[in-house]
This record gives sequence, C-alpha cells and structure tokens, in this order.
Amino acid sequence: ETTDITRLLLSRIRDVADYPEPGVVFKDITPLLADPAAFTALTDALAETAERTGATKVVGLEARGFILGAPVALRAGLGFIPVRKAGKLPGATLSQAYDLEYGSAEIEVHAEDLAAGDRVLVVDDVLATGGTAGASLELIRRAGAEIAGLAVLMELGFLGGRARLEPALAGAPLKAL
Ligand code: AMP
Repeated sequence: ETTDITRLLLSRIRDVADYPEPGVVFKDITPLLADPAAFTALTDALAETAERTGATKVVGLEARGFILGAPVALRAGLGFIPVRKAGKLPGATLSQAYDLEYGSAEIEVHAEDLAAGDRVLVVDDVLATGGTAGASLELIRRAGAEIAGLAVLMELGFLGGRARLEPALAGAPLKAL
C-alpha cells in the first residue's frame, strides 16, 4: 500500500549508484533529514511503532540509526540507547561480533543501559542483509532485555534480511516503512 507518507518519504531518498563500491545502490537519506515535514512524518510513524509494540526503550544503530532513533525515543517518551561500533563507548560494554561479506565487524552497548524487564525497539535507516540488525538483537537479548521489534525506514527485500532475522526476532515485528 502506497500512502501519502510513503510517497513523501520515498521522494526524499536519493539513490546513488555504485556507492560505496561498484554494484551497490546507496540509499541516501540526507534529503529526507533536510526536509522537516518528511523528517517529522518519519519520526511520528516510527514513534507510533514504538508505542504499538509496547517498547520501553529505543536502541539506535550507528550511525544513521542515531539520527532517526533519538527523535523517535523523545516523541515516544522513551530513553535512547546507542549501539556503537567497537571501541567508542567508554564504560563497561557487551559486544557482539558478526560476519560481513568480506571480514567481520563488532558492535557494543553499555552493559548498564539494558536489563531484564526492558522491551527494546531497534531503529535503523536501511535493512540490507540483516547482519547488523541481527547482531544488535543478539546483543540486546544477551543483556537480558526483550525485543519489542525492529523498525526501519527501508528494507532492501532482495537481500533476504527479513528471512535471516526471523530466528533473532522470535515473533517480534519487523516494520519497514
Ligand atoms: P546490513 O547489515 O547488511 O543489513 O546493512 C545494514 C547497515 O548498512 C545499515 O546500518 C545501513 O545504514 C547500511 N546499508 C546497507 N546497505 C545500504 C544501502 N544500499 N544504502 C544505504 N545504507 C545501507
């Protein structure tokens, strides 16, 4: 279903061919961020997902998940927790490694930011292979918290991320606007 909001959001996402490498179409959200009407519509839609899923905290994935997740958390009246690339958080962390097409990566969260009883909505801009989101779901579960859901602006369906994330989501909703 293509609503007015999805049309507005789509019109503010720029496809950049062969970036950051040949064969990749990069989804550039900077035009959307620069348009307050579109950014507000996106924030409202994601905050509604936070409320519908009964989330008690919002996790944003570095880096564009920070830009989108922080206003969503405030709009929904929830705390915001950054999941960062390894080596950036100063306190005691939990970390999770995951495979990339070539090599591997590692993400971290402050251990004290998540605990049993928390219900976490994870926010990011683009779901591609699902590797990053899957690692974050694992990290959240290892911290003792529950997954309320995963909400993204855009899902690149042909990369199969949704199917790959099914075990980690364990029935929690994956909302792609
Ligand atoms: P993945 O782990 O493969 O699902 O990749 C997701 C992460 O990489 C997200 O944090 C996205 O911001 C970024 N990403 C992957 N593919 C793209 C793309 N085609 N355009 C923009 N961002 C992307």
